[in-house]
Amino acid sequence: MQDTAQTRGYRRIATEEAWAPAELVQRYLKLLESGTHNDPGFANLWGFFGQSSSPRARDLLHRIQDMEQRRLADMDAAGIDMQLLMLTAPGVQMFDAATACDMAISANDQVAEVIRRHPTRFAGLCAFAPHAPEAAAREIERSVNRLGLKGALVNSHTQGEYLDDQKYDPIFAACEALDVPLYIHPNSPSPQMVQPFLSRCLDAAIYGFQAETGLHVLRLIVSGVFDRFPKLKVVLGHLGEGLPFWLYRIDFMHAGIVRSNRSEGVKPLLRKPSDYLRENFWYTTSGMAWEPSIRFVQQNMGHDRVMYAMDYPYQYVPEEVRAMDKLDLRPEQKHQFFEGNAAKLFRL
Ligand code: MN
Repeated sequence: MQDTAQTRGYRRIATEEAWAPAELVQRYLKLLESGTHNDPGFANLWGFFGQSSSPRARDLLHRIQDMEQRRLADMDAAGIDMQLLMLTAPGVQMFDAATACDMAISANDQVAEVIRRHPTRFAGLCAFAPHAPEAAAREIERSVNRLGLKGALVNSHTQGEYLDDQKYDPIFAACEALDVPLYIHPNSPSPQMVQPFLSRCLDAAIYGFQAETGLHVLRLIVSGVFDRFPKLKVVLGHLGEGLPFWLYRIDFMHAGIVRSNRSEGVKPLLRKPSDYLRENFWYTTSGMAWEPSIRFVQQNMGHDRVMYAMDYPYQYVPEEVRAMDKLDLRPEQKHQFFEGNAAKLFRL
């Protein structure tokens, strides 16, 4: 029997799939060639994918910019019905605020056009420039209300700054008011953080991404963002960047830090850190096609919070889709995992 959404009973929606417009790649290359940036994590990531002649890098550079022919063929070959598209890291966030605003608008217009041509195959999240918070909020609103995008995407820190600073509140307010999720995708550790990762090439997806993004998320929680925006919905890739595994100790230590009044930057919260991670967060499996980890997150965060993602084109491994099909789940749980949770959260 042919493998289709009808025969298997669910669409496979991949929820963390990267793309890059040609002008973004050109700007990255220009920055690398001119050396006019101060970001070793960016240089290690895009110096490889943008400039290396290795087949992995060449191939990725082609796939990530192709929005139709090759992408759709790859999806068909792997059995992916729909991709949720997002602008690849570091997105527009490493440019000055004015440039980043313009590039976000252009990228959102472009991705919306691709989605209009293939509405059953693609949906997307909008890019925005966090370092222009009011303009970012307006662009999120325009993208959702006028372009039909399904939420917003931030590639973690912006030039070493985290969204827990209250100046970024308009971004959370916009997502909460529109009732759309904010996907916090990794970025390379900031210049302040990246040094010890570099000499062993641990800065990117192998480990540095999750260390950096996990830190960002804990800063948001501990700073009280979710007490100020209790309906904010956040999505994390890579099964939550390790945080679900840490719940017990985070709660224990946070309570101790609050009780002993140990830090100016830590005030009592309305709920335990783990409560926010269970009630305000959703998790995708991007790049983590390993049953023990997936089951752990499903069991501890809820089957209604874990969604399939591939992390195309960085981890285009069609065999992983077959492995995910074999997960030991009841039919309704399998449906939630591949389609239902994403369809509900992103309104697909
Ligand atoms: Mn990714």
